[in-house]
Amino acid sequence: KPPVAIIGAGIAGIAAAVRLAARGHAVTVFEAAASFGGKMHQFELPGGYRFDAGPSLFTLPELVDELFRLCGRDPQEYFRYQRLDPITQYFFADGTRLTAWADEEKFAAEIEAKLQVPAVTVQRFLRRSAKAYGATANTFLHKSLHKAKTYLAPEVLHAVAALPQLGLTATMHQRHAKTFADPRLVQLFDRFATYNGSDPYQAPATLSMIPHLEHGIGAFYPEGGIYSIAQSLVSLAEELGATFRYNEPVEEILTADGLVTGVRTPQDVYDFGLVISNMDVVPTYRRLLPHAPAPERTLRQPRSSSALIFYWGIEHEFPELGLHNIFFSQDYKREFDAIFQDKTVAADPTVYVNITSKCSPADAPAGHENWFVMVNVPHDEGQDWAALTAHTRQAVLKRVGKALGRDIEPLIRSERVWTPPGIAADTSSFGGALYGSSSNNMLAAFLRHPNFSRKLEGLYFCGGSVHPGGGIPLCLLSAKIVAGLISTR
Ligand code: FAD
Repeated sequence: KPPVAIIGAGIAGIAAAVRLAARGHAVTVFEAAASFGGKMHQFELPGGYRFDAGPSLFTLPELVDELFRLCGRDPQEYFRYQRLDPITQYFFADGTRLTAWADEEKFAAEIEAKLQVPAVTVQRFLRRSAKAYGATANTFLHKSLHKAKTYLAPEVLHAVAALPQLGLTATMHQRHAKTFADPRLVQLFDRFATYNGSDPYQAPATLSMIPHLEHGIGAFYPEGGIYSIAQSLVSLAEELGATFRYNEPVEEILTADGLVTGVRTPQDVYDFGLVISNMDVVPTYRRLLPHAPAPERTLRQPRSSSALIFYWGIEHEFPELGLHNIFFSQDYKREFDAIFQDKTVAADPTVYVNITSKCSPADAPAGHENWFVMVNVPHDEGQDWAALTAHTRQAVLKRVGKALGRDIEPLIRSERVWTPPGIAADTSSFGGALYGSSSNNMLAAFLRHPNFSRKLEGLYFCGGSVHPGGGIPLCLLSAKIVAGLISTR
């Protein structure tokens, strides 16, 4: 089996390393940073607070288990997780609080009690979400959409034929507003558009299948935090013989006569006939392949949202908060218009607070909590992030403080901020977008970059900026698709 170079030890690069090493390829992973994980890294703040820097919500854990199983390992020996119940604590701007229970019936009953929307309406909606997921996921997420043979399978033709009926003509928001009379519930389900960095007022109603991931299949928490996903998979890849070369950025992908021939780093030039880029696809073309023809239309697809994150060590415990907490803004439309039209941060943004010390007490000292406080913002286009960060910090303190009836600022013992330019600098993600391109139009699924190069033989792509998209599960699937393409060359 020919040796493979992987550029980047993000979650997709790591998963690709596992899959190819398991098939007998000699795998070398080049990572620009000092360690693995990319957006999925961890760090500590003074005072004894541990943080997962990026992803916090974990769905479809079986995609991680699958990697251990295919190598003949028992996943439990490397990686354990629990199903969350409750999943999320919601705080609406009018003071209403709602708990999202894992059990659909209990969740629907809670909605009926708090928002007076009939439980049967909620359950019908969730069933529809499950049906849409079942009808399309296997086709649109598990396969390359850019190989003609994909379209020969009858199930794929059925899925494509079902698309219009699943909601290509309406937006997510229109679907939710038509289903639920209560604007708070519309807001709750609209938020699922942000799971791939999109705008519910533009994204097609097909994305209303996303709630099924959390409410049908389940939301999970890995023992030791999200970082343990990357950590356990790196251990597995190394056991299989993969080599990780840290602090070694790839500066150029070498090519000759339409074939990939190797990579150049500051340390050396290496020969490889197979190269997988886990680096964002835009800088892969711009920086590593400056002389190759770039697929300009694909690279110009609108970016997904980015994030402004405040990591706070908090000297207090809030029993009313859980692992996932949402503090909704007053005006959701205005918030998304600010992000996607005005390319700025809403004056009154929705705030997401993730507290891993609720599940992993060692992540904060006794009596303290580690708050990951995130606001959705546009990707970086040169905005004044220092000013936006200062305004947003005040808005966050106001919204959360009001909901909890307590001044938060005096409780902050440690602090760090991650901005879109910071995310771009630390992970090479174009504009600091969290999920590559957005899903704000109905053809987005088809317009993402394929998992292979049409021009350069031997070049492949995985990760959040290419098909099937961003987020942990889709990144893992991109690695699966790439490994499949390489094995059938
Ligand atoms: P990345 O994480 O983008 O890593 C790419 C790696 O490549 C980096 O390590 C980088 O240093 C390296 N690299 C880049 N260029 C080079 C080069 N030239 N040479 C060598 N190495 C290079 N997803 C979820 O599922 N749930 C969530 O709750 C969630 N929340 C998020 C919150 C935040 C704040 C962020 C930032 C992301 C979130 N995501 C979430 C998205 C998820 O983290 C990403 O989709 C996923 O981790 C991206 O993985 P990736 O494989 O594309 O690689």
